[in-house]
Amino acid sequence: MLTIDGVWKTFQGHDVLKGIDLEVRPHEVVSLIGASGSGKSTLLRCVNLLETVDDGAILLDGEDITDPRVNVDDVRKRLGIVFQSFNLFPHMTVLDNITLAPRRVLKVGKERAEEQAHELLRRFGLENKARDYPDRLSGGQQQRVAIVRALAMQPRLMLLDEVTSALDPQLVVEVLAIIRELKDAGMTMILTTHEMSFCRDISDTVCFLDDGVLLEKGPPEQLFGAPEHARTKEFLRSVL
Ligand code: ATP
Ligand code: MG
Repeated sequence: MLTIDGVWKTFQGHDVLKGIDLEVRPHEVVSLIGASGSGKSTLLRCVNLLETVDDGAILLDGEDITDPRVNVDDVRKRLGIVFQSFNLFPHMTVLDNITLAPRRVLKVGKERAEEQAHELLRRFGLENKARDYPDRLSGGQQQRVAIVRALAMQPRLMLLDEVTSALDPQLVVEVLAIIRELKDAGMTMILTTHEMSFCRDISDTVCFLDDGVLLEKGPPEQLFGAPEHARTKEFLRSVL
């Protein structure tokens, strides 16, 4: 579904991604772990075309999305991205936040868009929040709405960057439950997380990034249970 092929990214002479190769299959959940500054967010931003790559290519369903001639909006339609900060529009109700992009970008009618939004809100236990403004919601609820908003675009692939790290521990649980439900529903996802037990539990593949290099990847049992590289062991010792 997604192929990352030799991707390099340099910021002001500093190589942040150094030839990343990664294949993501349909329904697969891939986690990126690694120290702060190792390049996890940058890699997700390259996939979503928020950054241009300096070398290599990224293929989404066989199409080279790093080709400068590609239609960026068309690519972003197929990707749902959720960040650590919720980025909901504060002046809009939950319902309007969710229906905005389907209406504007996918040209879905108001009634149909709202119907779909209510359906998603129900699915994630937020149906009584539709008319509320974001500041009336807890952080966990806001982040669940942000995920619902991304889902409303019916993305091929979800990119989740530290979606729980701005939350109090008791709110983390409800956001993790949503991600679990998405996995069970077959959503393909790439996520970055500092929640190692969750990562171990939900991932099909875990990738360890070390200073811009994808040093090691494998199923969680292997990466957590029998890491090969000294750097991976050192990182895991520091976080587990
Ligand atoms: P964290 O766990 O803290 O979120 P990360 O693995 O997501 O870290 P990135 O945000 O991808 O790390 O950053 C990788 C490196 O790239 C860092 O050294 C960062 O300072 C640098 N960097 C990221 N974005 C930019 C930018 N727009 N301009 C210059 N440097 C940048
Ligand atoms: Mg990051």
